[in-house]
Amino acid sequence: MQTVSTLFINGQAVAGEREAFPVINPATGEAFAQCPAASPEQVDAAVAAAQSAFRTFQHTPDAELQAMLHRVADLIEANADELARVVTLEQGKPLSVAHMEVAGAVGWTRYTAELQVPVKVIEDSEERLAELHHKPLGVVGSITPWNWPLLIAVWHIMPALRTGNSVVSKPSSMTPFSTLKLVELINQVVPAGVINIVTGEGGIGRAMTQHPEINKIVFTGSTPTGQDIMRKAADNLKRLTLELGGNDAGILLPGEDLDALVPGIFQTAFINMGQTCAALKRLYVHESQYDEVCQRLADIASEQVVGNGLDEGVNFGPVQNKAQLDLVVELVEDAKAHGARVLSGGSVQPGNGYFYPPTIVADVRNGVRLVDEEQFGPVLPVIPYSDVEEAIAMANDNVNGLGGSVWGTDIEQARSVAMRLESGTAWINNHAEVLPHCPFGGSKMSGIGIEFGEEGLLEYTQPQLLSIKRN
Ligand code: NDP
Repeated sequence: MQTVSTLFINGQAVAGEREAFPVINPATGEAFAQCPAASPEQVDAAVAAAQSAFRTFQHTPDAELQAMLHRVADLIEANADELARVVTLEQGKPLSVAHMEVAGAVGWTRYTAELQVPVKVIEDSEERLAELHHKPLGVVGSITPWNWPLLIAVWHIMPALRTGNSVVSKPSSMTPFSTLKLVELINQVVPAGVINIVTGEGGIGRAMTQHPEINKIVFTGSTPTGQDIMRKAADNLKRLTLELGGNDAGILLPGEDLDALVPGIFQTAFINMGQTCAALKRLYVHESQYDEVCQRLADIASEQVVGNGLDEGVNFGPVQNKAQLDLVVELVEDAKAHGARVLSGGSVQPGNGYFYPPTIVADVRNGVRLVDEEQFGPVLPVIPYSDVEEAIAMANDNVNGLGGSVWGTDIEQARSVAMRLESGTAWINNHAEVLPHCPFGGSKMSGIGIEFGEEGLLEYTQPQLLSIKRN
């Protein structure tokens, strides 16, 4: 396979100055390629190039910025097969899901191209004209995780470019290649230095968050890393968008049509093998339908075809990395020790790949680690409740607050429950759906700031009030 084996700094493909490191294919447990590693000096060079490019790029006319993003979308589309294959190799997801990720990258890029930065007239009177403008911030540092490597890079980079910022990108060391390819493609369109990429295990992300010449960090990943970034960002008051962990609850209302709702619950809990920040991660079911829901979920789980994402017919891939697999095993074993019943899956498949089949865990409650902590893997704990008030209380009894959902045919009842969830997004009869026009962000420990839509775009800008005296 072809992987991009160079960094991009100031428009140039450059070798990493540190020793390259292996990237593991989670379906085989073996390295499939070596990733270049940047030195701290190369991080400095990337930031300097971005600062220098910003001086002129910030003045690029809107129409040109929009055209650039559309050209980038064309290039992603033209390279879709290669990108999807790289995503599957490094991340593990089935090729069909990787193709969806690439299609999402194209759609998000085009949508972001079309977004407008508004000018708001605050006052237009005899005394004054006051207008609120938005200007780019400077150098945006993008630090991305390993679950949706290409799409999340697009979520960070496109609004930054659309608003006239320059970028230094740092992908997860576990999934660097799709982002390296993306940045190579963007470099065919934008002026030198507008987008740069540095890769490397450990330390590169920290070097960025401490860098005095980076003006904003947009980060998607774990809550502890987000907290570390926030502390470091204080030195030069970096602007921050932090999209962190979630432990989303779903509440299935009593007396529901299970044929209609259970498949959607399964789908949104196990999307990307459960490795999605806003996947449904805890399901609350009324005791009157509890056993039947658990069994139906287990039946769907047993139908999944687990295997190498490159193989025909496979619709359920491996966990992305060994540490995450170990965490999933630890949490399920702990739940079992607390009396939980495993209705499907529940153990690592033999072999070198990180395969853990979709696992439904019953007879588990709040207070058990599998429910209280983000498992971020192919496991769904199902918790019984006796009345809806109790379900709402248990759903909100968590430090995270990314998403939440209510499943029921009485939309008014579902709406009244959904509005009481402590979460950045509340879905009804759905979960984990993110859209380029719908603002998305976490409450509580799940993050700060918004991505997507106009609200997300404006996070890459500095407001400036222009006040013109008239009388
Ligand atoms: P991390 O938060 O450790 O890593 C995410 C990104 O941050 C990677 O690019 C990583 O680089 C970088 N990074 C790590 N430490 C620092 C630091 N101190 N300063 C700046 N950047 C840093 O997530 P993990 O990959 O270790 O996953 C751990 C947990 O995070 C998962 O179990 C899951 O709960 C959660 N997670 C949440 C995601 C989400 O979408 N919200 C996505 C992925 C994980 P490098 O790879 O080089 O270490």
